[in-house]
Amino acid sequence: MTDPLIPPKRKDPLVVTRAGHVSPTLRSRSATAMAARAGMGRFVLQVCDDCAKATYPQRDRCPFCWGTLSWQDQPNGAVIEAETTIRSSIDLFFKEHLPWRIGSARLDAGPMATVHLHGDVARGDRVRLELKLDRAGNPALFAMPERETPHMADDPQLRVFTAHPKFRRVLVTDGRSEIGQAVAEALLKAGAKTVFLGNADPLMRYPGQEQIEAIPGIEPVHLSLTDTRSIETLAGQLGGRVEIVVNTARFTRQGGVGFGGHLSNLQSGLDLEVTGLMRLAQGFAPALSARSDDGDRSAAALVDIASIYGLTGKAGYAGSSATAAARLSLMASLRGEMAQTGIRVMSVLTGPIEDGWHQNVPPPKTTSAQIARAVVTALEQGQETICADEVAKDVLARWLQDPILTIREENK
Ligand SMILES: [Zn+2]
Repeated sequence: MTDPLIPPKRKDPLVVTRAGHVSPTLRSRSATAMAARAGMGRFVLQVCDDCAKATYPQRDRCPFCWGTLSWQDQPNGAVIEAETTIRSSIDLFFKEHLPWRIGSARLDAGPMATVHLHGDVARGDRVRLELKLDRAGNPALFAMPERETPHMADDPQLRVFTAHPKFRRVLVTDGRSEIGQAVAEALLKAGAKTVFLGNADPLMRYPGQEQIEAIPGIEPVHLSLTDTRSIETLAGQLGGRVEIVVNTARFTRQGGVGFGGHLSNLQSGLDLEVTGLMRLAQGFAPALSARSDDGDRSAAALVDIASIYGLTGKAGYAGSSATAAARLSLMASLRGEMAQTGIRVMSVLTGPIEDGWHQNVPPPKTTSAQIARAVVTALEQGQETICADEVAKDVLARWLQDPILTIREENK
């Protein structure tokens, strides 16, 4: 049974923070391809196009017949055939986290694989394998108990591969919006210790303010993503006390490019969502990075919520889609930067939101509760990209299959 995580003690300011070492990044194209799929929560292996055998670890050609390989979703069951405990390592990260348990798993899909073991898993057990990303963004197999065990998410080896909100302190950037409030509540329910809830204009009241600020664990803070100084000030106050940052800021307006769009809306959207995201990253990324291996309450993730139409554009929402595209692009660059420091960078993708700016869009539309659930799931799983709703899932699936066709379809 996993020992339940206990609330971390207040940090001794005189103790040196453990440096957040990350393993070297795997450079091969196949490892990168596997990581990209792991980041979307898929369990994939390479399967030979000729002999149809699945293979692991990732390689460039089939080890049985030299055929070409393609990525396919595979059954994730396995049996642990051997286990061992590593007590010495030259890897700078694992050296600080010994002893570390690994095992050999016989996958239902065919191959044998070396896997990281959950504490409740032993030799002979049937397990559920998850394809995870390590701190450097490399793919790794993690063996979970087949059925839920007590305090399963608290396993110290598993926590290295996730950004679980339990006992962590979170900054949610826009508490004035329904999305921000839903995300804040969901994070507290998932075990977050404190949610610092951003408010760009403390002198103006907003709907739901009394209820959300009365919830234990919510701490209102002054934060405006369009104001560099407000971010610098808050980062100075909270930098060492925030482990997760969730950016819920959004500015949606209707309009096309040549017809019906307002330049001022595009500028406002770019300033809040794009320049704002960069301001936020510049304010908080260094402090998060400095504490990426700081015990049970290490800094873990930066999460951004953006429209799926950033991938395709969207007729009638041209400016907002362009803003989302810039936002996704910044997140991709930031992900590469933060892989050097062990902080996860996550994008939650949404379809049209159930709000006043999508009144003419037919359902289904994304609710705040769905977005909140996706944020918590991404953190609990350590997933880089997650869709909050069915529309986003559908657009992403079509885009993965045929991006050029999907762009046409969404802009008819
Ligand atoms: Zn083959």
